[in-house]
Amino acid sequence: MAKSPILPRIQALDAYVPGLSIEEIRSKYGLDEVIKLASNENPLGAPPLAQEAVKRQASSIFRYPRGGNPRLRQALAEWHGVSPDRIATGNGSDEVIDLLIRMTAHGGDHNIVCFRPCFSIYPIQAAINGVEARRVPLENDFSFNFKSLLEQTDTDTRLVFVTTPDNPSGYCPQLDDVRQLAESLASKAPLAYLVIDEAYMDFARDEKKSSMLACHELPENVVFLRTFSKSFGLAGLRVGYAVMPECLADAFWRSRLPFSVNILAEDAALAALADKAFRQETLQTVAIGRDYLNCELLSLGCKVWPSEANFLMFQIPGNSLSARECCEKLLQQGIIVRSLASYDLSENIRVSVGNKHENKQFIAAMRRILAK
Ligand SMILES: *Cc1c(COP(=O)(O)O)cnc(C)c1O
Repeated sequence: MAKSPILPRIQALDAYVPGLSIEEIRSKYGLDEVIKLASNENPLGAPPLAQEAVKRQASSIFRYPRGGNPRLRQALAEWHGVSPDRIATGNGSDEVIDLLIRMTAHGGDHNIVCFRPCFSIYPIQAAINGVEARRVPLENDFSFNFKSLLEQTDTDTRLVFVTTPDNPSGYCPQLDDVRQLAESLASKAPLAYLVIDEAYMDFARDEKKSSMLACHELPENVVFLRTFSKSFGLAGLRVGYAVMPECLADAFWRSRLPFSVNILAEDAALAALADKAFRQETLQTVAIGRDYLNCELLSLGCKVWPSEANFLMFQIPGNSLSARECCEKLLQQGIIVRSLASYDLSENIRVSVGNKHENKQFIAAMRRILAK
C-alpha cells in the first residue's frame, strides 16, 4: 500500500452502513407508501411543541448557541431531580459515548468492556480511539451474564457498557443485579465507570423497577445515558445526554466541542420536555403497539423475544425462508425493518413499534410472506 499519514487503526475501520432510506425504497420499487420500522424512531413523529420551537428559532440561526447548554441542563436536572452539575449534553448520545472513552481511556494502556452483540458505537469509538474493547458474549436467551462481564475487567478497565433495555433484543436486567454489578465493579476496578445506556428506559413496563436513575440512586461510579432520539422524537436534531458524577461532568464540559448541541436542537429539546401530551401518547402508542405486534407475530409462528423497548426482535418459523429473504420481501412491499446481520444475528429481525396503521401494514405483509 502507498505511504499514507492516516493511522493504521483508522485505515482498518469498516465504513458505517446506514439503514435504507424511505426515498431509496420508494424509487427502487416504485411504491407510493413506504413504512420505516428500522431505526426505533418515534411512531408519532416530532412533538408539536418542538416543531413550533424550531420555527420560532429559525430567525436566530445566525447566532452561536450559548456555550454549555445551561437552560437544557437546568431543565434536565429538574426532570431527573438531580443537580445541573451532573448533566452532560451532546450531539446525540453518540458524542457522549465518544467523549467518555476519550476522557478516560488511553490507547495501549486501558480497556473498555461490553457485550457481544451490543450497540455498535461502543466498540467502534473504542477502535477509533485505539482503545481495546473486551467483548463478553450474551447468553443464548440474550440475557446478561454480569459475572462474565466482571471477569473481563481489571485495574486498567475504564468503562463498562451495559444497555438496558438492550438493543437489539429488548431484554431488561433486574435492577438488583445492575446495582450489584456497580458495587462489585467499584471494588474490582476502582477507576472504572459503569455506563448504563438507558436510551429505551422510558418504554420499560415499570421504569422505577428497572432504573437506578429513576429511583434517584446515583452511585459515584455510574454514568446514565439518555437520548432525545427515541421517546422525545428528535432523532434528526441529535441531542443526547448523561447524568454522571460531578467530577466527570466537569471534565466533560472542558473536553466537549463548545457548540455541538446547536441552537435549534437545544430549543427543540426544551420544548420536547414540556410537551407532556405528546410524550404520554408516545408511551401509550408504544405499549399498545408492542403488545399487538408481539401477539400477531406469535400467532404467525414466529419466535419473539420479550422486549421492554420500542422494538421487538423475532425469528420467522420454519426454514423455507431466511431472515434476509424475509426482509427483502418486506422491502418489496414498502416496509423497512432491520436485518440483524451487522449484529452477527443473521437469523433475527428487529422491527420498531410503529403507529397503529404501520403496525397493521407490517403484520399484513408478514402474513402474505409467510403464507407462501
Ligand atoms: C438509539 C440509541 C441511542 C441513541 O443514540 P443518539 O446518538 O442519542 O441518537 C443510544 N444507545 C442505544 C443503545 C441506542 O439504540
